[in-house]
Amino acid sequence: MTTLSDRQLTHATRALPRYTSYPTALAFQPAPDDADTRRWLGDIQSHDTLSIYAHIPFCERLCWYCGCHTSVPNGYARVARFLDQLKREIDLWGEALPAHAGTAHLHFGGGSPNSLNTGDFADLLALLATRFRLRPGAEVAVELDPGTLQREFAGGLGAAGVTRASLGVQTFDPEVQRLVNRFQPVEQVATAVDDLRGGGVAAINFDMMYGLPGQTCANVAASMATALALEPDRVALFGYAHVPWMKKHQAVIRDADLADVSGRWAQAEAAESVLAAHGYVRIGMDHYARPDDPMTARLAEGTLHRNFQGYTDDPSSVLIGVGPSAISSLPFAYAQNRLRVDDWAADIAAGRLPVGRQLETTSDDRLRRTVIERLMCDLQVDVGAVCLDHGREVSTLDPAIAGARALTADGLCQVEGRRVRVPSDMARLVRVVAACFDNRSVIAPKRHSAAI
Ligand code: SF4
Repeated sequence: MTTLSDRQLTHATRALPRYTSYPTALAFQPAPDDADTRRWLGDIQSHDTLSIYAHIPFCERLCWYCGCHTSVPNGYARVARFLDQLKREIDLWGEALPAHAGTAHLHFGGGSPNSLNTGDFADLLALLATRFRLRPGAEVAVELDPGTLQREFAGGLGAAGVTRASLGVQTFDPEVQRLVNRFQPVEQVATAVDDLRGGGVAAINFDMMYGLPGQTCANVAASMATALALEPDRVALFGYAHVPWMKKHQAVIRDADLADVSGRWAQAEAAESVLAAHGYVRIGMDHYARPDDPMTARLAEGTLHRNFQGYTDDPSSVLIGVGPSAISSLPFAYAQNRLRVDDWAADIAAGRLPVGRQLETTSDDRLRRTVIERLMCDLQVDVGAVCLDHGREVSTLDPAIAGARALTADGLCQVEGRRVRVPSDMARLVRVVAACFDNRSVIAPKRHSAAI
């Protein structure tokens, strides 16, 4: 296990973006209407495949650690009304899109997509598949809360067309579950996995966490061992981001129940030891996959990508997001839907794409985005080669490389010429190195989570 030096610990406390995009959403500006987005959609080429993200902003109960855009609907009438509006939004995007090559990846997130009833979910999937021309062999992924997952819902997903399910397991420790208001005994998760696989969902991901209240190295490692006994194909290991000034419900979590930064690092290391012992391959800073998983193959090829869902083997260059807060990534721009359901619904009712914030990217943004994405995915990048690929002088990002070189003394990266490499034992701190190439983000302690 690696322990951090004092200087590395200082880097680990820095509040930094997770670089699921570059520029990050904090750089987006208010959108006056949907005119810019409709124009930017025109940059999509007929050979471009699409990735579609559908945001379901409801959960049956709120986990105290949650950082997502979600709420408890208190009855299905509100969910049903939302679904009507979402279907109208899907039509609006479908009508606005130019010719494209169909959808290679469809992802349901939230919130909890299993807050929909079984028939409504299947209808929504079918509508999206028709509207955005789902390609044969496309991945259809859904995030699920195993604590509220109904057996009928899980068992029907394969028949509806779902190919991958991500279960938010986080921890199996009963006391930690009590402290975060999320109850799911191991038997319940095991049943969910059996129902999913039995219904034809071949690929299973688990999300696990460290840094939650009451977590220790021992209970993090024990939870991971229990999780791996269920043989997930992929595991994401996230650190809890305690930002109660942004997420009011997190105020329920007491500072005294949280580990400090060196404790968080030790918990992550304990979890990773279990993953390594079971043969999982580290992907980027926080994902793990079986050696025979497609994501591991993409990592070896250098073709792994990073988008708003995290690491992905989806090669689509265009992402269309539907539902409140969802972000669309277009060839030369980002467009984020309105956050508040009422604002989002009002735009849809008026026939407008419900875009609330947006950003047209510059050539410099796209150059830096490539460098940051390769670093986040491969933990190494030839910055000069990327500059040349983008038609720029090989020395364009030399000032940023100098910033990375300043981190070499602390062991966060190595720099040879214009090649930057993050050693595997520092992978969890890769965003500190990536930030050297970021000249857009507001690096503000109150707006991002700590690097660990
Ligand atoms: S189930 Fe997921 S999205 Fe819903 S409250 Fe819990 S953490 Fe948040």
